[in-house]
Parts: sequence; C-alpha cells; structure tokens
Amino acid sequence: MMHLKHLSISGFKSFAKKSELEFSSPITAIVGPNGSGKSNVAEAFRFVLGEQSIKSMRGKRGEDLIWGGTDQVARGNRASVTVTLANGERTFPVDFDEVIIERTVHRDGQNEYSINGSKVRLKDVQEVLAAANIGPTGHHIISQGEADRILTAGQRERREMIEDALGLKVYQFKKGEAEKKLKKTKENIERVASLRREVAPHLKFLEKQVKKIERSVELREQLTQFYAEYLRREDVYIAHHHDRLTAERKEPAKLLEQLKEQLIAAKDTLAKAEKDEKREALVAAENALSTARASKSDLVRQAGQLEGQIDFLVRRIEAEKVRNKQQSEHPIPYKDVAEISSRIEREVEKALKSDDATTLKRSLSDIVHTIKKFLARATEQDIHTTAEEERELEKLQTEKKKTDEQLTKAEETEKEAQQKYDAVREAIEAEASESRAAEREVFRIVSEERECESTLARIDNELQGLERDRNEFKRELQEAVALIGRGAAEYFKVAVVADGAEVGPETMVSEDREQQRGRRRELERMKVRLEELGGANDDVLKEYKDVKERDEFLVREITDLEESVAKLEALIKELNDQLNEQFTSGIDKIASEFNRFFVLMFGGGSADLLRVKPKVKKKTEQEDELGETVEVETEEEDEEAQEGIEIDVKLPNKRVRGLDMLSGGERALTSIALIFAMSQVNPPLFVILDETDAALDEANSRRYGDMIEALAKNSQLILITHNRETMSRAGILYGVTMAGDGVSKLLSVKLEDAVAVAK
Ligand code: ATP
Repeated sequence: MMHLKHLSISGFKSFAKKSELEFSSPITAIVGPNGSGKSNVAEAFRFVLGEQSIKSMRGKRGEDLIWGGTDQVARGNRASVTVTLANGERTFPVDFDEVIIERTVHRDGQNEYSINGSKVRLKDVQEVLAAANIGPTGHHIISQGEADRILTAGQRERREMIEDALGLKVYQFKKGEAEKKLKKTKENIERVASLRREVAPHLKFLEKQVKKIERSVELREQLTQFYAEYLRREDVYIAHHHDRLTAERKEPAKLLEQLKEQLIAAKDTLAKAEKDEKREALVAAENALSTARASKSDLVRQAGQLEGQIDFLVRRIEAEKVRNKQQSEHPIPYKDVAEISSRIEREVEKALKSDDATTLKRSLSDIVHTIKKFLARATEQDIHTTAEEERELEKLQTEKKKTDEQLTKAEETEKEAQQKYDAVREAIEAEASESRAAEREVFRIVSEERECESTLARIDNELQGLERDRNEFKRELQEAVALIGRGAAEYFKVAVVADGAEVGPETMVSEDREQQRGRRRELERMKVRLEELGGANDDVLKEYKDVKERDEFLVREITDLEESVAKLEALIKELNDQLNEQFTSGIDKIASEFNRFFVLMFGGGSADLLRVKPKVKKKTEQEDELGETVEVETEEEDEEAQEGIEIDVKLPNKRVRGLDMLSGGERALTSIALIFAMSQVNPPLFVILDETDAALDEANSRRYGDMIEALAKNSQLILITHNRETMSRAGILYGVTMAGDGVSKLLSVKLEDAVAVAK
C-alpha cells in the first residue's frame, strides 16, 4: 500500500547538507518555523519527479535550486534529490522491488537523471512515473497557497487538472502524439503530391513519346510482315510468268526463223522465174512491208522502255513530294542557325551604336533581308532535288511523245505497205493460175509471219512489263532493307497466309494483278505513317520507365500515407470517445464526492461540478436603430470545443451561491473539499499538502483532520503544517530548523515537541 519510502535531499536549496526522510507511516507531517525550509522539501519532491518549471519551485534558473551559500557554509556545485519508491507490486515498469529515482542539477543548468543507479533521460523517468499516474502537472503536490488554484483556474485549466487527477493524461498524451503524427503525415502527403505534380507534365510528355514509339514498333512489325508478303508474292509472280513467257516465246520465235528462211527461198524462186512485172511488184511490196514492220517493232519496244522510265520517275517524284510535305518542319543544321543568329546580332549591335534614324532604318531592312535570304536558301535544296527529277521526266516525256509520233507514222507506213502488198496479192490471186504457186507460197509465209510476229510482240510486251516490275521489285527490296534491316531480304522464308491457310505459288501467280497493286499502295501508306511516327528511342523508353516507376512509388507512398491518416483519425476519435466517456463518468464521481466533503465541512449546503461548453466571442453585423450596420459582439457556446468545468456551491443557510461570495476560510474549505474529492476518486500514490490547513479555525481543523485520515486510507500523505490538529493525525513528524548558518536541518520529533518546534 505504501509506496513512498524515502527522500534524500542534498545541496538542494536550503538543504546544504544531506538530509533524509523516511515515510514509514501513511501520514507524515513536516513542521517548523517560518522560513526554515519546509516548502523546500515539497519542492524537492517536485524536482526529483521531473518538474521542468523552475518557477513552480520558486526559482528563475536551475542554479537557484542549488545551495547558494552563506558566510558560514560555502555554496554548492550541484543539488541532488533521490526518492525511493516501493515496487513490490510492480506498480512501476521496472524489474526491481524498489525504484530509486535521482535527479541532479549542476550550476550550468545541466540536469542528470538516473533510475536505480543507471543514467537515463528525463523521458524515461516520466514514463516510469506515468505508469502510476504521477504526471508532470503535479496535481498530487499542492504547494503553499496553491490550494485554491483549482477555484481560480479557468474552465479549461480546471478540466486539465481534473483530467490529470482522473489519470486521463495518458489519453491526452496519446492524442497529442497522434495529432502530431497526423499533421506530419498530412504534410508528407502534400509533399509527395507536390512531387508528383512536379513530374506530371514530364511524365505525360514521355507517355506520349512512348506511345508513339510503341505504335512505331508495332507498325514496323506489321510493315516487316507486309513487306515480306508483298516481296514474296512479287518474286514468285515475276519468276513464274517470266519463265512461262520465255517458254511460250520459243516456238513462235523458231517458227518465225523458219518462215524467214522460207520466205527468202520463196522469193528466190520467184526471182529465178521469168521476169514478171507483178512478181517484181510483189517482192518490192513484201520488202517494203517487212521494213515497215521491223521499224514499227523497234519503235514499239522503244516506246515501252520510255514508258517504264517515265513510270519509275513519276513514282519517285510522287513519293518525294509526300515526304517533303511531311517534313514541314524542315530541319536546318544548327551551324547555319548559329551563323545567321550571330550575323543578326552583329547588325543589331552596329545599329544600336547609331542615333541616326536613317542608319537605323537601313540596318532594320538589312536584317529583314538577311532573314528572308536565309529562309529561301534553307528550303531551296529540297526543291532542287525534285526539280532535277522533274526536268528529267519532262525530257523523257518529250522523247516519248516523239517516239509515239514516229510510231504513228510507222504504223501508217506499215498500213500503206500492207495495202500495197494486199493489192498486188489480190491482183495476182485474181489470175488464179496454177503457175502462181510460188506467189501463193509467199502469201502464206507472209501471213503466217505476221501472225507469228504479233504473237511474239504480245509476249515481248508482257515480258517488258515484267522486266519493269522486276526492276521495281529490286528497288523496293533495297528500300525494305534500308527501312527494316537485312531481315527484309529473307522474305522467301516467310509464309504467306490468307484466311488461315498458307497461300501456294499457284494462287499467287494466278491472282489478279490489281490486288498486288493495292498491297503496294498500302505499303506506301504504312511507310509514310512510320516515318511520321519516327523511330524507337531507347533513352526515351528508359527515362519513361524510370519516371513511371518513381511516380508509381509516389502513388504507393500516398496510398500508404492516406491509410495512416485514416488510422490516426480513427485512433484520435477513439481516444476522444474514451476520454470523454471516462471524463464524464469521472466527473460525476468527483462531483458526488465533492458534494459529500462539502456538506461534511460546512455541515450542509451543496456543491456540484458542471460540464459547460466554453463560450466564444463572435462578431456579427447588425443594423442599429439608424439603419447602419454595426459590429455586435455576442457570446455563444462553442460546440466544437471540449467541455470545461464550472463549480457551483451553495452554503447552508445562505441565499447566494457561487464562488465569488465565499470568505477566505470558506474558499479554503471548498478547495480542500474538491482536492480531496479528486484524490478520492482516483487515489494518487501520495499527496503532498503544503499548509493547505492554514486558514482553518479549530472546528474546521478537526473536520480537516478527519478527512485527512479518510484520505490516508488510499494515499500516502505528507503534510507541511503549523496546525496542531493536523500534527496530531500524523504517524511521523519531522521538524525543520534553520540556525544562523542558513542551513535547514531535519530531525524526527514527537508530537509533544512538535508544537514547540513549529514555533
Ligand atoms: P513558511 O513556514 O513561512 O512557509 P518554510 O519553512 O516553508 O516557511 P521555505 O520557503 O521552504 O520555508 O524556505 C525558504 C528558505 O529557504 C529561505 O530562508 C530561503 O533563503 C532558503 N533558500 C531558498 N533557496 C535557497 C538556496 N538556493 N540556497 C540557500 N537557501 C535557500
């Protein structure tokens, strides 16, 4: 039951020499004349229990707590107080049967703490003591004249004192900690959020870039696949048809050779026969026709070649135009920009030196001219390349036109030759003579020759087309390699799939050519799109990955922090609820004890504690009688704030109520009643009362003594007193004396001597 065992004071205030007190009784009284150092004992308690307010120990600096010295006894360098608390029931979280707390203060204001001989921090001392609700407000130590502090205190302060007495400080402490943490967490959220906001635009930019790159990679894959299919189909088609046509050509070519020989022979026979006007005409007509046909064929071939070249150029120019259009942001080499910029600078500098308006104007127009020239030159090169090709195209087209004209003429010549030949033939045939066999032979050969030639012309035309396609194919293959790498040349390894089935060469070669042309157009579109998207950029990808990861990390951090906020808010609410609940029930108990003690002290009347919402001053605008707006101050209850505590007392046989009406003695009694009520509900381990009984008359002193004894059942009491009645209730009495040397001395006294010592 008894926790307070021992106090040792050394060099503290007036206790220059080591003084020791044993507390082996529930009630210990300390007596002695004014100024002998009794209150210093109470302050020694405050000191060793970790009091941080020097003022509450009647000092200004730590140094004031150290023995200051007198003429007889030199000043000390440090003050130390040791308190020994019983811990058999492990009231304190220390694994010893006794807890010995020591505090020392040095002249430089430095403090040292130890628990059972081990150096510790103040926080450790506070933690150990808090376990027994010995808190820093020291509600269990009532200093001299401080008894009615609870009466003079404001509602809020009073609430704090009562909370402390009820042992609710721990909730306040936890709440405070949680609130601090909450504030910090919210600040952290804001900090992290602002970090996120900072990188957001950059991240967005990178995201766009990466999407572009991804699309480009995807498109490149599609293009690779598509190219392979296109090239494969083209290759197979060209090879097949080339072979086919070459084979097809063999027979008519051979036949033509034979026919030519036959014709020579036939004409020979004709020539050897007797001269005949008609025969000669036939040979001449036939010769003319052959010549006309040969030159026509030449021209057809020539025209075909020209057409191929024109075709090629037109496509190139088209492609280049598309490309140029895309490059609307025409890149200008940095070197050129730097050069033009420094030239403009020089001109501006020169201009700035002059005050003459004419010179200035000239300089300005020079600058404009320089810029215009620069821009014109920058776009020039580009136009140049296409222009050259266009000139070439023009040349080819003129040539083609000429060839076409020649061809028309050649066709006319052929037609005329044919007509002439036909006329001669008809004339000869009209004679229908058997002797005309030789001529008929010539007719047959010529006609067969003609058939043969037209077949060959058709085949050759087709072959020419194929040749053009082959050239185009080679060019396309080169471009594919340049665009998607060497792999493009391996197109023959790629299977062409349509509708889930592999497409065989037979299908490829018999396909309508228009379909392949459509593929080609699609290929061009894809190339253009790919160029628009630009290539892959590993730096961008890496940076995006880094920035994204960092952002995701921040998001996770915010989520974690928000979770903490929710938890802390819930904790604060719970602590608040517990605090309010315990406070409400505690206050009711204290109020009823208060009333009991009060009635006991005053032999009647009533006392109560009221929970009230604090009033807040509010300024509102109202209209006065003259209709002008004026600010009016009103008091309203602050619903948000915690309730404070108001004291309501009513003395027996007196009409008035309230604290203001009390006499000095009545005030003392009331505060004692309240202090005792508080100690009764949640009894502290010990209570130190410094002359709380000073104002009591004899009758009240007895009642006070009775209450002391009641209180001592739950708490150990140390009473500093001049009151004989109080002394008589103590089990142990200490006398404090001070001789001429100003040093307080302690001695154990008997009650009979105590009264004398007290004087
Ligand atoms: P009262 O009965 O009048 O309340 P008290 O017995 O409570 O008196 P205290 O107030 O405890 O007396 O003691 C005050 C005395 O202690 C004064 O004489 C003061 O000079 C002395 N004192 C206080 N601090 C020091 C110090 N640092 N060094 C020396 N003496 C000190």
